[in-house]
Amino acid sequence: MIPKFPLDRVNWFTSSFLIVTFFTALIGVPIYVAHHGLDLFQVLLFIFFFIATGMSITLGYHRLFAHKAFQAGRGVKLTTLIFGAAAFEDSALDWASDHRQHHKHVDHEDDDPYSISRGFFWAHMGWIFFKLYPRPLANVADLKKDPLVMWQHRHHRPLGVLAGLALPAAIGWLYGGATSALGAFLISGIARLVCVQHCTFFINSLCHTIGKRPYDSGTSARDSWLMALFTFGEGYHNYHHSFQHDYRNGVKPWQWDPTKWAIWTLSKLGLATELRRVPEAKIVLAELREMKDRAEAQIENGKGWKIPSPNLEEAYATLLELSQQLAEGYHELEKAVGDRIKVSSAALSRWRQLGADVGDQILLLRTLQPGLA
Ligand SMILES: [Zn+2]
Ligand SMILES: [Zn+2]
Repeated sequence: MIPKFPLDRVNWFTSSFLIVTFFTALIGVPIYVAHHGLDLFQVLLFIFFFIATGMSITLGYHRLFAHKAFQAGRGVKLTTLIFGAAAFEDSALDWASDHRQHHKHVDHEDDDPYSISRGFFWAHMGWIFFKLYPRPLANVADLKKDPLVMWQHRHHRPLGVLAGLALPAAIGWLYGGATSALGAFLISGIARLVCVQHCTFFINSLCHTIGKRPYDSGTSARDSWLMALFTFGEGYHNYHHSFQHDYRNGVKPWQWDPTKWAIWTLSKLGLATELRRVPEAKIVLAELREMKDRAEAQIENGKGWKIPSPNLEEAYATLLELSQQLAEGYHELEKAVGDRIKVSSAALSRWRQLGADVGDQILLLRTLQPGLA
């Protein structure tokens, strides 16, 4: 028997919008470019709208409204609310409600609205096609008190049409008449919104599937530098799920996180305040805990081995020794963090190095005897 498709639960308006914009971009843009070419104006306009609307989601919807990772004045709020609406990802209030629910119940099929445990496509965009549950919005009571957020919640669709479709078309018209207006509408309007949406969606799908978990392997969220490139730094998702209130997602100085740099710049201009940072010692503690668990699992794994080579025997003995040192270091740091004792950056570097050495040793063991790992 064919299971009955829940037609009554389909979100027809949103589903149609997603499908129509996707195919308009896929078909309309190549036809336009074939007929009229692609000039520098259209490319720059696309980049501007991609950054303005994409960062309104990452800096505004995500880090400012959903996580309160920093505070901002009316100017920053209004800008990110208007250009965030132009990404057509619902109102900031609804977005934040879903997102807080995702963090609270991550990987729990019934409560995480875009849980990866329901499959890649579901986490990516499948969940948007359906009316999952009436949003109680109880988890965004703080945002409901913000008149700007509520104003955008009431008007986000017309705002999105104006800022995300009419504005690029109008700029195109001013630049080069009707043909440029059509190009701007298709490229900086439709194709741009499809790109921004899928970049956001990839955080929920790809960043819960592919990448490393240096802070917590107990969650499906992963760090992916590749995704960070396309999402203004949101790809460091394992860190983010471990420390969701930190205004940084790429916490290392070399990690690509333009959203973090933009928030820092706003703070220097006096437009953002109360930037929240997790203390370095807590971050190192999470890294050590993760490495300690991995080393212990590897050692446990090796208990039943018949050690067939001196090389492997030596590598295993070294891992045992390093892991012992790591466990001691971990407990020492855990106590210091618990007692709020300041730890010097030299000591943190030493512990980090020890963690890295244990990681190298695990890798060496796996290289020497892959069948045993
Ligand atoms: Zn996530
Ligand atoms: Zn988040």
